[in-house]
Amino acid sequence: MKVKVRIPSPLRRFTAEQAWVSVSAQTVGEAVAAVAEQFEEMAQHLFDSDGNLRGFINIYVGGEDVRQRGGLEAPLSENDEIMIIPAIAGGTASEITFDREEYIRYSRHFSLPEIGLEGQRRLKQASVLVVGMGGLGNPVALYLAAAGVGHIGLVDFDVVDLSNLQRQILYSLKDVGEPKLKAAKERLENLNHKVEVTPHEEALTSANASRIFTDYDIIVDGTDNFPTRYLVNDVSVFQGKPNVYGSIFRFDGQVSVFYAKEGPCYRCLYADPPPPGLVPSCAEGGVLGVLPGIIGSLQAVEAIKHITGAGETLVGRLLLFDALAMNFHQVTVMKDPDCSVCGEHPTITEPIDYEGFCGVSGIGEAVTVPEMSVQELSDKLENRAEILILDVREPWEWEIVHMDKALLIPVNAIPSRLADIDPSREIVVHCHTGIRAATVSDYLIKQGYTHVKNLRGGIKAWAAEVDPSLMQY
Ligand SMILES: [Zn+2]
Repeated sequence: MKVKVRIPSPLRRFTAEQAWVSVSAQTVGEAVAAVAEQFEEMAQHLFDSDGNLRGFINIYVGGEDVRQRGGLEAPLSENDEIMIIPAIAGGTASEITFDREEYIRYSRHFSLPEIGLEGQRRLKQASVLVVGMGGLGNPVALYLAAAGVGHIGLVDFDVVDLSNLQRQILYSLKDVGEPKLKAAKERLENLNHKVEVTPHEEALTSANASRIFTDYDIIVDGTDNFPTRYLVNDVSVFQGKPNVYGSIFRFDGQVSVFYAKEGPCYRCLYADPPPPGLVPSCAEGGVLGVLPGIIGSLQAVEAIKHITGAGETLVGRLLLFDALAMNFHQVTVMKDPDCSVCGEHPTITEPIDYEGFCGVSGIGEAVTVPEMSVQELSDKLENRAEILILDVREPWEWEIVHMDKALLIPVNAIPSRLADIDPSREIVVHCHTGIRAATVSDYLIKQGYTHVKNLRGGIKAWAAEVDPSLMQY
């Protein structure tokens, strides 16, 4: 049957730079042997003179080490993906060469003693996974591609939205509505066609994270939600990889390198995520467009330093940036011996179900409350139902768009204005997309209100599905 074998970058000079080779085989051993037969010069790098697989070569199938599957005799299934992964960390990269174009392209790096030819070879040999292609992931991926990192993986499943262009500098107006990874791959390959870009167009979950991470040396955390952030941390610890962390909120940013082999992990710093709803997302809390450019660029610097060995990385230090005061602070982060992931007696040893654990889903629905669809509300209003429409957004949002006869009480003012909300009436709570309104609905129900529903999708869905004349934002 046909299977695909991934050739690691150090061995691609034998395959005319092909990253994937297709062969026919029934077992893992047959597949590797078929590759060796097809590319004779590579064989001596894979097998010793007795025909045994060399000790520094590991073979993975579908993200799993074949030694756990019964070794080279392990049977294959149709379309299996086999990866050949040689030990390269910290090793010499002297076999990596550059062509005429690359000598010119990277000349400003060659002339830096801290990087030079050896550092640039390490960059070419390196593989970096960028999780999240939003505000942070964009500058990280652009700078890493420009710097000549040989293999860049991207994880995201979103499409480009017009509101992304305020900070996500990789995308253009023509990309709106297109998958982010399609636009990103095209842009990065235009910038540097010497770089291999692998899109992983899926949501990162406890089921796929281990498989996706396997193929990369370094993980860059460009996520915007806690379930994914904890997942990125934990799987990085399990696989012994550095996790280059960045996060942004309004005018503030944080950067660090969590590398359990040498220092603390993210859970040593924050053992548990905050309760759902406490920290708003970028969409709700807002973010200065330039901020992710600064924080993402710092993450790219840290990744490049880790790869080349230049300078001192942020392992054990958390860098805090305040754009309003325009200052940087740093604090020391200690490794926690009781850390549930990287401590002496870890209690978390495999990816856990982070959505259940954090109480929020990937798209951020904070609590479960009764809901009403926009169509249902439209029908009820047409039948002249006496419904109190409670808008819990901020005044600036009201100014852009609001529904007729709605009552505006921003989220934070709700507890002090309960007297304005008649408990005998049927109440529909709405915000922009439904997250804040769910929190308020839950709060009202706990206060004894019995006829409360959250408008699913918020005013955004109302404008899209019921009243297109309304402004959207
Ligand atoms: Zn830890």
